[in-house]
Amino acid sequence: MNRINQQLQSELELDIKDKNYSNKMTLIINEIILNVVSDLVYLMKVDHGNTFRYVYANEAAYKRANINEHSMGLTIQEVIPGEFANYLQEQYEKAVTLNEPIVFQDNLVMNGKEIYSESILTPINDDAGQCRYVVSVTRDITDKMQEKFRMLESQQRYKSLMDHNMDAVISVNESRTILNANPSTYGITGYTEKELTHLLFLSLVASEHGKKVDQLFQDTLQGKTKDNITCQIVHKSGMLIDVQLKMIPIVVNVEIKGVYIIMRDITEQLRSNEVLKFITYHDHLTGLPNRSSLKEDIHQVVSKSKEHDQIFGLMYLDLDRFKFLNDSMGHYVGDLLLKEVAQRLTSLKEINQNIAVYRQGGDEFILIIEDTNRCQTQDVADQVLSLFQTPFLLTSQEFYVTPSVGISMYPKDGLDEETLIKSADTALSNVKDRGRGHYQFYSQDMQKGDSQTMLLETCLRRAIEKDELLLYYQPQVDLYTGEVYSYEALLRWNCGLLGFVSPADFIPLAEETGLIIPIGEWVIEEACLQLNKWRSKGHTNISVAINLSGRQFQQPNLVEFIKNAITSNNIDPSQIEIEITEGAMQDTRETIGILNKLKEIGVQISVDDFGTGYSSLSYLKRFPLNTLKIDQSFVRDVLSDEKDAAITTTIIHLAHSLGFNVVAEGVELEEQAEFLRRMDCEKAQGYLFSKPVPASQIEKEFLK
Ligand code: C2E
Ligand code: MG
Ligand code: MG
Repeated sequence: MNRINQQLQSELELDIKDKNYSNKMTLIINEIILNVVSDLVYLMKVDHGNTFRYVYANEAAYKRANINEHSMGLTIQEVIPGEFANYLQEQYEKAVTLNEPIVFQDNLVMNGKEIYSESILTPINDDAGQCRYVVSVTRDITDKMQEKFRMLESQQRYKSLMDHNMDAVISVNESRTILNANPSTYGITGYTEKELTHLLFLSLVASEHGKKVDQLFQDTLQGKTKDNITCQIVHKSGMLIDVQLKMIPIVVNVEIKGVYIIMRDITEQLRSNEVLKFITYHDHLTGLPNRSSLKEDIHQVVSKSKEHDQIFGLMYLDLDRFKFLNDSMGHYVGDLLLKEVAQRLTSLKEINQNIAVYRQGGDEFILIIEDTNRCQTQDVADQVLSLFQTPFLLTSQEFYVTPSVGISMYPKDGLDEETLIKSADTALSNVKDRGRGHYQFYSQDMQKGDSQTMLLETCLRRAIEKDELLLYYQPQVDLYTGEVYSYEALLRWNCGLLGFVSPADFIPLAEETGLIIPIGEWVIEEACLQLNKWRSKGHTNISVAINLSGRQFQQPNLVEFIKNAITSNNIDPSQIEIEITEGAMQDTRETIGILNKLKEIGVQISVDDFGTGYSSLSYLKRFPLNTLKIDQSFVRDVLSDEKDAAITTTIIHLAHSLGFNVVAEGVELEEQAEFLRRMDCEKAQGYLFSKPVPASQIEKEFLK
């Protein structure tokens, strides 16, 4: 009590003497002071209802507010400066007017630190009901306020997270009723906030996914954490929306009170996944499933066939001479052809739903025929061939293209993708070797062919150095006079290991392996050498026709090589005739260039196997040619087949109208020679006159 002003103290003592009044005051003050000692406690005397003077302040007030003994007896305005004094005055007046405790909060700087405070002003009345004192208790609530701010902030953050979340976030109680949802939910579901609230969440889920979603809900309620699931929800419009859905338990005081359901619309994502998948598994040009697709599908077809004990067929299709067409007509035309082929092949699916068509790459296609047998597969192969009977109309030009097809059957020819494709490919190579434009089923002995090819290749590599190559000569006979002035040089290989090997067998292999280059050069050299020998024996008006393969024709030093061989053997260039097949001569500027150079050095040029190529014949006018050789396939049936007779006649007329000579190949019968003579064909070669024979025999029989 030592801090109470003397004058006021005596007044207080008087009041305290009033027993009732003092008891009441003591009780209140004691209770406050004793119970809340760390609070700032003031006792204010009320004068005339609106002047408040300090009569008491506790330790805490002395320490923390700017209160000291001199403050006692002073008014609020005398102790506290400015605005804040007015504010306090108002509060005190309010407590007195209301005649009940009032609470107010403010923040103030105490000892240089900003604090939040809460004050309770309790008016104390005398017996007459007059307010005589006000007890003020000010409590530091900085910590409490900060906590409150923190809560508010985190609530705002949470709200912001919800409001701006791209995902729909829905809170659902334990009975699956929606409590609230964020704005994204309205977008994904099409429902408004009002429509969603109190709705059962499962009513949003597509019925077929209801069970799975509810199971996830129950698991989440039990605190089991689960992965995302994908399911469909039903938009208000009835449209199904693909969503990825996650559930998180709402934990309040360690108890799960509900579930947050987070949903992401993945319709777009799925769509772009689908597009991506399409690109990965389809061929860009034709739109057909590609090799990756085939790989996966075969895997499935194998397991399905295994399970149901079924057979399936695999057709490996390759377009004949596609490279030639692509190179000569341009890639644009090549692409058009591939697209058209893809379309024609796909049309097979309309007749037989068990057929699937793939583009394996380049000009190769693969067909899978499920649940079939050999006979049915053969029917499909026939249908495939018939698809190519109509010409392809590409940039207003007609092209006849044939396919070669190799077929393997599951399980006979292979149990997996790799083996089945390999078997079909082996069969395909066989078709190619035998003249293309057909199909063949794989058979075991084709494998042997493979190792035989390898052996052949090994031997062929050593053929030149082992001196195993020979040239035979076949006379070309003048059909009117019977005289022979030209011979075709035909290569023979007397292999030490394999015996005589037919050029039909080793020339394609030599072309494939590149061995044709040294072999071809040997032929040119050897033919010139032979002409030189005959020349030295006085036979100066003989010419020899040398066959050139396509690959040789593309050799940059070809013309130079021929020229050297001619010069070094001291023969006349007109004694050499170069035979090139139509296929080897592409209708390009390069070809014309090479042919012109050959012409310049003075050699003759003839087109071998004329009529079997696919050329448009327009080249005949542009190329510097001398001779057309009618292919033996036409000559063979010239007497029995009207078509072949017509073709042969036409070729002869065509050649003459262009100023070319004609040589008919493969003449075996006098009647054929007679026919050719009648049609004005001037020369022929064939077994009727002589088989290809060694040079020594030519000398004996023809150069007497
Ligand atoms: P090609 O140039 O068309 O040669 C004509 C083929 O017909 C020769 O076959 C010849 O023996 C054969 N032949 C000739 N008269 C008759 C006949 O009356 N009846 C039958 N059935 N066949 C007849 P060969 O010698 O087996 O040559 C086959 C092919 O190999 C040649 O066809 C030619 O394309 C190629 N060839 C041969 N020698 C060479 C060469 O030195 N270089 C190149 N690049 N290819 C060659
Ligand atoms: Mg020839
Ligand atoms: Mg020929």
